[in-house]
Amino acid sequence: MLTRKQAAAELAGLLKAARSAVALSGAGCSTNAGLADFRGDKGLYASGKYDPQKIFDIDEFFKEPRYFYDFARDFIEQLKKVKPTFTHAFLSALEKTGQLKGVITQNIDALHQKAGSVNVVELHGSFWTSRCVSCAREYSYAQMEPRILSAEVPRCSCGVVIKPDIVFYGESVRRIGESVKMASESDLFIIAGSSLEVYPAAAIPDSAYGKIALVNKGPVNIRAERLSLNVSDDLDDFFMAVAEELSLSV
Ligand SMILES: [Zn+2]
Repeated sequence: MLTRKQAAAELAGLLKAARSAVALSGAGCSTNAGLADFRGDKGLYASGKYDPQKIFDIDEFFKEPRYFYDFARDFIEQLKKVKPTFTHAFLSALEKTGQLKGVITQNIDALHQKAGSVNVVELHGSFWTSRCVSCAREYSYAQMEPRILSAEVPRCSCGVVIKPDIVFYGESVRRIGESVKMASESDLFIIAGSSLEVYPAAAIPDSAYGKIALVNKGPVNIRAERLSLNVSDDLDDFFMAVAEELSLSV
């Protein structure tokens, strides 16, 4: 077992040697922001108020969109209050210095963009845009936010329900090709706060032919022999140590 400082020095070394590092971020990145982890033991989901399988089930949505929109209202109210974590800021700072090409994220909370990251592939979509499930008319987040917060199920001018461009269970993950390409072109792939339990995201590291560094608190669905560095630590504390090793101001 490496100490935090040793592990941080190793990742700093890998980052210095890398020319095209890419990060994959999961829910563990946002838990320190106070946001609910999809699979963690805290937050909105664990409160028992919402069943994540049901919230994001496309058949349930078509049957009764209110269940999703009740969740969305709570989620957006929470999002308005939370700030990006050190980890988000660290990844953004790395992109600015050219040491990171971009971030693939499984999260729908837009905290990477809030932290200043530019090249962000939101694998599971986001609330930025929504569209009518019938006529495909597009609605911006600015148009949707007041409707979601008003507790009404948002409907298109044609009368049919509007759905945010979030990937639900049962829908195809449109940005998977782009993500796999980023991974395959990387020489360092950093997995930050993902347990790699949800496919197809979980398969993206298979396309990373360079070095893979894992930073997560808790078990991860990946073969240990694929990892150049395997860190089980608090993300913010660990990346603070890496920033120090890199003399990176975050
Ligand atoms: Zn419509």
